[in-house]
Amino acid sequence: MKIRVFSLFPEMFDGALSASLLGKAQDKGILSLEVINFREFALDKHRHVDDTPYGGGQGMVLMPQPLIAAMEANAPMSDNSEIILLSPQGKTFTQSDAVRLADRDELSFVCGHYEGFDERIRHFVDSEYSIGDYVLTGGELPAMVMIDTIARLIPGVIKERASYEEDSFFQGLLEYPQYTKPRVFRDMEVPDVLLSGHHANIRRWQKKEALRRTWLRRPDLLEDYSLSDEEKKLLLEAQAEEEACHQDG
Ligand code: SAM
Repeated sequence: MKIRVFSLFPEMFDGALSASLLGKAQDKGILSLEVINFREFALDKHRHVDDTPYGGGQGMVLMPQPLIAAMEANAPMSDNSEIILLSPQGKTFTQSDAVRLADRDELSFVCGHYEGFDERIRHFVDSEYSIGDYVLTGGELPAMVMIDTIARLIPGVIKERASYEEDSFFQGLLEYPQYTKPRVFRDMEVPDVLLSGHHANIRRWQKKEALRRTWLRRPDLLEDYSLSDEEKKLLLEAQAEEEACHQDG
């Protein structure tokens, strides 16, 4: 996958996307990342990229000319591409958006800054995403969040597909609790079933705990999740256990 980022602060991407799995993916040629400073496309001698808002108001607004010139000089080569504008007013980015975007050959991310961007810039993008209901200084961190989330789903970036398919959100639930060595830590024991070697019982426990955790922490996710008969049974069991626990406590 080819990723282009349009940003006034390319140095922000240096460490974040060159370390760990994304760095390895770039070394292997699975992923290529280019950060374009659109200030270089400004026409005036001082390379201005922003100006005061028409109608008055606070702060500075990004002008369309430098950004659109940069985007036109670095247009996607493939039809299977998407230009994404980072904005707190966009659709909230979710794991299913990441799955959809991981199938693209090319992605471009447009990072706003200052008070935002001239409204006409919206005509030059395919989609608009927010990473949550809060406002950051610029689109760089949101772009990094999206790139990291998408890139780990590209075949070859993570060795085992199963390792991200069991992550929270991928199948619509939170992940079950995980344990590693030691077996007892400060009197807290690993559940017996995980040491039993009985694979069917372990899978059942993991599914039940994923359902319990989702119901307790993110009941909204269950509204969009279609429970199988087995899952309905496991959830009822977990709910009865929680109820009994509350009554005892
Ligand atoms: N005045 C804008 C508004 O109220 O919608 C906010 C501008 S914000 C200070 C500057 C830039 O940061 C935005 O243009 C956008 O690129 C980025 N940004 C800020 N919060 C974001 C979020 N939650 N998700 C995605 N991008 C965000």
